[in-house]
Amino acid sequence: MRYHDITKDDMRNGDGLRVVLWTAGCGHCCPDCHNPVTWDPEDGLPFDAAAKEEIFEQLEKPYISGLTLSGGDPLYPASREDVRLLVREVREKYPDKTIWLYTGFLWEEIRDLPVMRDVDVCVDGKFDRKTKDAKLLWKGSKNQRVIDVQASLCCGDGQGPVLYCGDYAPDFDEMLMRGTRAACEGA
Ligand code: SF4
Repeated sequence: MRYHDITKDDMRNGDGLRVVLWTAGCGHCCPDCHNPVTWDPEDGLPFDAAAKEEIFEQLEKPYISGLTLSGGDPLYPASREDVRLLVREVREKYPDKTIWLYTGFLWEEIRDLPVMRDVDVCVDGKFDRKTKDAKLLWKGSKNQRVIDVQASLCCGDGQGPVLYCGDYAPDFDEMLMRGTRAACEGA
């Protein structure tokens, strides 16, 4: 696997302050992708022992909530095995930290992958510029889902995965509801 960056104290890709690994390789080609430089799996740097240690150093810090894998697509086929091994190791070494994973694949396509057994939250689906909304919580477009992976593996059924959170932060939902109510009352 190759990667482009390891960002630290990141607040935009999951709960709390996180360390984020930006992997190389993505075949989804979403129009208006936020990070097309990461599409080429041969670009970036080799993910070696030093890179892994850089992540572990962050996870040692008590105020770091966990690891997020993004990209590119961490589930790009050529990266999957390395990602699985990394996630397994993080789960064993840091059982109290959470692991988030962003992918362009749909939950229904990836839920049976072994790596999912160690992931807490998965944001699935391609970025859809038609439903883009900067106020969405932890995702770029409305079609994407922020999925509670372990609850979904345990209890998900034909109705689809169990969501970790709604489309917007609770206070924003409340604001929207109030706005809708005010609009209705004004009508
Ligand atoms: S899945 Fe993500 S990285 Fe890949 S093309 Fe879509 S937005 Fe870009």
